[in-house]
Amino acid sequence: MSQIETHEQFKIAALERQQESARRSALASAAILDTAPEPTFDAITRLAAEYFRADTVLLGFADESRVWIKSYWGEAVRELPRSGSIFERVLAEGGPVVVSNIANDPEFAGNRMRLRRLEVASFASVPVRSPAGEILGNLTIFGIEPRRKMVVDELRMLESLAEMVANQLELRRLRQAIGSQGSRPCSGDRKVSGIWPRLPDLRRALDQRQFVLYYQPEVELATRKIIGLEALIRWVHPDRGVVPPIDFIPAAEECGMILPIGDWGLAEACNQIQKWCDEDLRHRSLRVCVNLSARQFAREGLADHVEALLRQFGVSSRQLGLEMTESSLITDAHTAMEVLGSLRRLGVSLLMDDFGTGYSSLHHLHSFPFDVLKIDRSFVARITDGEQPLQIVRTIIDLARVLGMNVVAEGIETHEQFGLLQQLGCRYGQGFLFARPMPAEDVSKLLRLPGRVLPNPPAAANLPN
Ligand code: C2E
Ligand code: MG
Ligand code: MG
Repeated sequence: MSQIETHEQFKIAALERQQESARRSALASAAILDTAPEPTFDAITRLAAEYFRADTVLLGFADESRVWIKSYWGEAVRELPRSGSIFERVLAEGGPVVVSNIANDPEFAGNRMRLRRLEVASFASVPVRSPAGEILGNLTIFGIEPRRKMVVDELRMLESLAEMVANQLELRRLRQAIGSQGSRPCSGDRKVSGIWPRLPDLRRALDQRQFVLYYQPEVELATRKIIGLEALIRWVHPDRGVVPPIDFIPAAEECGMILPIGDWGLAEACNQIQKWCDEDLRHRSLRVCVNLSARQFAREGLADHVEALLRQFGVSSRQLGLEMTESSLITDAHTAMEVLGSLRRLGVSLLMDDFGTGYSSLHHLHSFPFDVLKIDRSFVARITDGEQPLQIVRTIIDLARVLGMNVVAEGIETHEQFGLLQQLGCRYGQGFLFARPMPAEDVSKLLRLPGRVLPNPPAAANLPN
């Protein structure tokens, strides 16, 4: 062997050691190997199994000698030796490995691959990467029957699921970082700090009818037709003017006033639906969505209450939607499941609000009977920032398709966002680009537009607050 060759080999080995060490430190910083199983990982492997009709799905992360399986579907596997593993092969390829028929594969044909019980005929495996691009683990689907060739769309779906795993890791890391700085501005567990409003202020506001509902149109992106409205509460305060919900809903949640305020909101929305239908019978196809807080779930009889309201106002359950965030469901998941089940049987739509911001949105999406997923505004805002944010939204839309759910994108402000969302196959959206939340009388005017189609927004309609 010449000296140059030895030198080259030495350089390659040094580079490999460097890459391996970067991979190991990324793994350590995400604390992947030490953490408890994550429900979101289980949701991802289950989704992969359903989507690909796979016999077994494994999600693993590797240390020096083992591949630790963090979630499996099908055959129960906890760990695998790293040497000779599919992980090694994904690492060597630096990307996906698809083997449609192991018998024809030079590397695997010799030692027919087996999981513990399963004789495997085909597999596809994609890397799970750190934000810096190191391969931390792999997501693999296995089949007993040889597969026909995997098409580009299928591979992209598998990569999207692996990306979802990576996003979950990143989300957890960010949350830990924010948590250690002390504060976290999240609607679900926001602590009320200021002294205003207190319970008597809120009670007085309710008695004196100072709350109003504004409505923001929800449109079909391809046609700009108004298909629904979201009811958003405002407090018209005699001294302070129009107070946004962020300034009083957390206080109302904490002191319990959210219950009577929420009841009022539901009744008011039903009343308004009836009024719009009186204006034009065709408005019966509109769905008006009301936001619900955690406390409203914890109370018994929500479904009965909603049913009584629908009857009182002569409104069909198809005309009502209820939006809730993930954080409002996890306080008491068992009750939430029962309540959601009864609401669903009633026929009202259930929308998961602010999707992607919670701890394990995907897990909850899969376990609760939602029919619509609303992509949080923060994802839409970043969609034009590059490939990664775009990929997140693409994954969410793909997942919704797998789960048979509709998607509404929140907070569309620019033509660029609008265009990209359409390209990604998102059907519905709402945002300042189309219309801001407005009083019911103004909505009536919009509803009188021919075909309920909103005019094309002006070219420079980039409208932050
Ligand atoms: P949400 O349900 O996610 O509502 C969407 C929020 O995004 C609304 O803020 C809306 O005005 C705003 N928005 C819509 N399009 C755009 C856009 O293009 N750009 C920007 N920057 N913002 C946009 P809003 O009305 O201030 O409501 C905030 C939150 O308060 C709501 O978030 C919801 O969680 C809560 N909320 C509103 N009404 C009620 C209610 O009646 N009951 C309960 N429990 N919560 C409510
Ligand atoms: Mg909402
Ligand atoms: Mg939202």
